Amino acid sequence: MSAPNMDVLVSLAKRRGFIFQSSEIYGGTGSCWDYGPLGVELKQNIKRVWWRDFVQERPDMVGLDASILMHATVWKASGHVDNFTDPMVDCRECKRRFRADQLGDMPWLHFCPATKGNKFTIPAGEACGHCNARRTLCPDCGKGELTAPRQFNLMFKTFMGPVEEDAALTYLRPETAQGIFVNFDNVLQSMRKKLPFGIGQIGKSFRNEITPGNFIFRTREFEQMEIEYFVNPGDVVDGRPADEYWHERWIADCMDFFRRYGLQPENLRLREHEKDELAHYAKRTVDVDYRFPIGWSELMGIANRTDFDLRQHSKGSGKSLTYFDEEKKEHVVPYVIEPAAGVDRTVLAMLTEAYHVEDVRGEKRVVLRFHPEVAPVKIAVLPLLKKREEIVSRCWELRDRLAARGWVTVYDDTAAIGRLYRRQDEVGTPYCVTVDVQTVGDAEKGEAGDGRVTIRDRDSMGQIRVPIADLETAFADLLGGAAWAAVAARYPAQAGS
Ligand code: ATP
Repeated sequence: MSAPNMDVLVSLAKRRGFIFQSSEIYGGTGSCWDYGPLGVELKQNIKRVWWRDFVQERPDMVGLDASILMHATVWKASGHVDNFTDPMVDCRECKRRFRADQLGDMPWLHFCPATKGNKFTIPAGEACGHCNARRTLCPDCGKGELTAPRQFNLMFKTFMGPVEEDAALTYLRPETAQGIFVNFDNVLQSMRKKLPFGIGQIGKSFRNEITPGNFIFRTREFEQMEIEYFVNPGDVVDGRPADEYWHERWIADCMDFFRRYGLQPENLRLREHEKDELAHYAKRTVDVDYRFPIGWSELMGIANRTDFDLRQHSKGSGKSLTYFDEEKKEHVVPYVIEPAAGVDRTVLAMLTEAYHVEDVRGEKRVVLRFHPEVAPVKIAVLPLLKKREEIVSRCWELRDRLAARGWVTVYDDTAAIGRLYRRQDEVGTPYCVTVDVQTVGDAEKGEAGDGRVTIRDRDSMGQIRVPIADLETAFADLLGGAAWAAVAARYPAQAGS
């Protein structure tokens, strides 16, 4: 199955309540998106498993939730005021703006002199097949000259307090990392951590991107899941400097994380930053790229930031940000390994990966094969007949029971059963429970119910008959990672629909 194109995902996301354009009734904003009822569940699940796997389960990690607005000097010391810029060019004709470093990645409009000025759209980086020209003008209008690049600072400015004056100027954070660095000593003192240890944080960041776009891939407001992992650069682990050893470990752990929640190995790759691409403070940076609908692009970055940030903030604040090594009796400035992932890009990667179109007995089935841990809805309880009071009331009772176990469970009776299954497939619900006449019996005919319901598996469409009393155990197994076949083997199969 080839990857879906972006328009298909945008349309499904809107239609099924995952992601809406921000302020749509006012014509929408260029680069902001709102997560709808299913999108917010998906996003929360991603953040929850990340937090659990990287912060809560590891003895060498703690968490933090720093504020978005910080002392303005933080951004001076961190280098963001002077260096957090992208080179921008403007078209003198249509006035559009572009990132100079991305011009080569864009298809371009060309009025070809060799074909009496016919208009062609030429793929990124290619020359015109007729006149052999390469792009020099505006890629969008094909006519305007571009200005020389100017550096544009990506930080959003704002004012703290009621007076709009320079003294009150500060910024919305463009990354969550700095909140961790400035709290390094607070965490060290309060938690008595020993090196190596890390601090994880999830939160909003803001960048006034010159060319946002590609749905939630590049927006001006987004969420990050970041870790700053502090190591003693003087230590040696497995014969290597500790920072290099831990950098490798974090690269492996991050790749494992994405694979664990469903991204296929063939859609993930590591990309080493070239020397001339490295930030001036970075010793080494490796990106995890994903094969998005727009092609291979960055999902996260894992950088060795050396001791740059702690030294800068120490200089800027006048406070010592060191660690006292009890054994060597010396103060060290730790090196920092920074695994920095985007929540929204992870949502997009998981949506892309999950999307499948299948042919089922001559009909098209769209199914989102989410990992059960990230699926927005875990179970749908469906009545075979919505006019039978006993069936409906039993469905609601089961919905409430399963929801009380912490599994997001919905009830739906707005269509016939086949249609209801397809709708749940399309939002990635791993399991459906169906209550039918056999379950509740028929009082008028004096027939007792068998007290069993059907569980249907999204991926195989297999169905089993399970006693109601067993439901919680069966779902604890299934949602806890047991294979469908293993659980299904315990119960009689049911002919599928
Ligand atoms: P890019 O090169 O794509 O602009 P970056 O290298 O500047 O990204 P980092 O500063 O390393 O990004 O941020 C870490 C992660 O935060 C990125 O890998 C990405 O997942 C996410 N991220 C950064 N900028 C954006 C954005 N504008 N919209 C959505 N996610 C973003």
